[in-house]
Amino acid sequence: MSMPSTAPGAAPRTAPRTAIVTGSTSGIGLGIARALAATGCNVVLNSYTDSAEDHDLAAALAAEHGIQAAYIAADMAKAANCRELVQKACARFGGLDILINNAGIQHVAAVEDLPPEKWDAILAINLSSAFHTTAAAIPHMKKKGAGRIVNIASAHGLRASPFKSAYVAAKHGVVGLTKTVALELAEHGITCNAICPGYVLTPLVEAQIPDQMKAHGMDRDKVVREVMLAKQPTREFATVGQIGETAAFLCSPAAAQITGTTISVDGGWTAQ
Ligand code: NAD
Repeated sequence: MSMPSTAPGAAPRTAPRTAIVTGSTSGIGLGIARALAATGCNVVLNSYTDSAEDHDLAAALAAEHGIQAAYIAADMAKAANCRELVQKACARFGGLDILINNAGIQHVAAVEDLPPEKWDAILAINLSSAFHTTAAAIPHMKKKGAGRIVNIASAHGLRASPFKSAYVAAKHGVVGLTKTVALELAEHGITCNAICPGYVLTPLVEAQIPDQMKAHGMDRDKVVREVMLAKQPTREFATVGQIGETAAFLCSPAAAQITGTTISVDGGWTAQ
């Protein structure tokens, strides 16, 4: 006697969704990839390095969550690479359901001292890459009549700080792109939203703590509270897990009518 594929009364099984997370071999991107894998999504990890560790990370994620995962190298500074990432992921997994635009870099300098090549790199990786991946993803999502696009902006997509002109300009641009894409896709079952984190304790931020302790002559706790988290009223970092869970929520059925907006995970920064 053959067994029914679905128990009586149980919801029919649906194919796992496929998610691309750009810039996902560390920090927030990896946290989002883990959160989506935990919900049963197949996941494409990305960075530009293409090391053995990158591929091992994908294999470990697949083994841990019983999903399929692949690492696909692509430099988000290059338009063609961004678009190829989407096409390669779709070829590998037969389509695309979720696109998380997360890759980003920072350079801190006064406007007049900011090297033009740093401006170009920040605008390319933090803003233009989201345009290219989104443009490439839309036909695949329209084919399914469903899709989720989540852009990782920043509190700096809503507020400015001195010495971060390129980053603030790019992140404000990401928020504008998010709203426009949401309006264009509103009748296609595809949502587009931005998460705006405040300071998140990623390896990138952790590495700055010893230098700040030395520069200010403070211990770790004091430099974190009084220097790094001066704008974050809770005086606590957000975690990559919290950003991951927020992204997973935006990709869940509960968020079907949330589109074209920003969700701040910033300990109250932008309430000020
Ligand atoms: P991170 O440096 O830990 O990770 C960045 C990831 O992007 C890495 O996997 C890196 O390999 C990848 N990457 C960098 N350049 C790339 C390129 N050219 N092509 C492909 N991949 C590339 O950084 P993070 O702190 O996790 O930041 C992730 C995102 O979150 C960024 O967009 C950042 O602006 C945003 N963000 C971070 C914070 C924070 O406090 N950490 C706050 C707000 C927003």
